[in-house]
Amino acid sequence: MDITVLGAGVSGITTAIRLLESGFKVTILSRDMSPNTVSDVAAAWWYPFLAEPVEKTNKWSSETFYELIRLKNEENVDCITLRLGREYLKEKCELPGWSSEIPHFRILEDSEIINGYNFGWEIEAPVIEMNHYMPWLLAKFEKLGGFYELREFSSLQEVPGEIIVNCCGLGGRDLCNDRELRPVRGQVVYIKQDPGFGRFDQKPETLTYTIPRRDVTVLGGTAQKDDWEENIRPEDTETILSKCEELWPELNRDNIVGIAVGLRPSRYEVRLEEEMINGKRIIHNYGHGGAGVTLSWGCADEIVEMIKISMQI
Ligand SMILES: Cc1cc2nc3c(=O)[nH]c(=O)nc-3n(C[C@H](O)[C@H](O)[C@H](O)COP(=O)(O)OP(=O)(O)OC[C@H]3O[C@@H](n4cnc5c(N)ncnc54)[C@H](O)[C@@H]3O)c2cc1C
Repeated sequence: MDITVLGAGVSGITTAIRLLESGFKVTILSRDMSPNTVSDVAAAWWYPFLAEPVEKTNKWSSETFYELIRLKNEENVDCITLRLGREYLKEKCELPGWSSEIPHFRILEDSEIINGYNFGWEIEAPVIEMNHYMPWLLAKFEKLGGFYELREFSSLQEVPGEIIVNCCGLGGRDLCNDRELRPVRGQVVYIKQDPGFGRFDQKPETLTYTIPRRDVTVLGGTAQKDDWEENIRPEDTETILSKCEELWPELNRDNIVGIAVGLRPSRYEVRLEEEMINGKRIIHNYGHGGAGVTLSWGCADEIVEMIKISMQI
């Protein structure tokens, strides 16, 4: 059975790997490859953010959490590190559903909560260095026997293959005429300084984060709906830095080494479902918003299961 995966972001390559591991012949066709996908810009902290529906994203994210740890421990993928991070909230709220699924989750003591906030928690979660992880994923895909080709499509009907897994990210707006799919623009700043632990305020209105990688810390962020601007905006850089300085006063602007922009493929819910178009079987896997890395392995496993069940394997 030949399967075509459309798209070579984190969703596409991860799904392609799982399909190859299940014995399918897989080709990735994509307009862009790493380092030119949105996935390459992801910060990327394991955290279910801006992605729905929660019942499903809780499951996909916890499956991905444990797969990332397995990759780090068993396949020595050293661009995945486990780091502590503290989420600060203005108001007390219900704990997220995934909080009971991960080994380290604790409510912050009053003395640990910074000025201007009233509640918070600490987790230990994977940080994924996408500049290394994307090439690693692609190398794994090729090692398993997968092929890829650069191709752009204007319609899903043009895509060859018996089954097509559609991981086209924001491309689904035109390819699937999906007006529910919209960009949520994110700008990040890279700084050569380590905050010790990550600091977060993940409310979209006040979005602030410091995500420590081994070499740089990723500072964010912006979550600008319907904003297609892919160029860096100096005023956004300033906003990001001032917000991060609130959470991390020791931040030193002299250590800034880069800035990047990406458009999150946001949708009211992740589109993971099957559709028949002119007798062609399409399985959609797009619309992961701000959590495409966090959901990647869980979504990939679900797609493999869908295909196996329908083929009675
Ligand atoms: C600033 C920022 C920070 C983020 N931080 C995090 C984080 O901390 N944790 C996290 O989990 N997520 C994070 N994200 C979200 C994450 O980056 C996305 O959810 C994820 O990258 C989506 O991956 P994808 O593979 O679905 O899409 P993409 O990476 O966009 O890949 C889509 C692929 O489809 C191809 N394609 C599209 N249209 C066509 C076409 N017509 N023909 C052929 N090919 C096509 C593209 O070329 C590309 O290869 C962040 C995003 C941004 C912008």
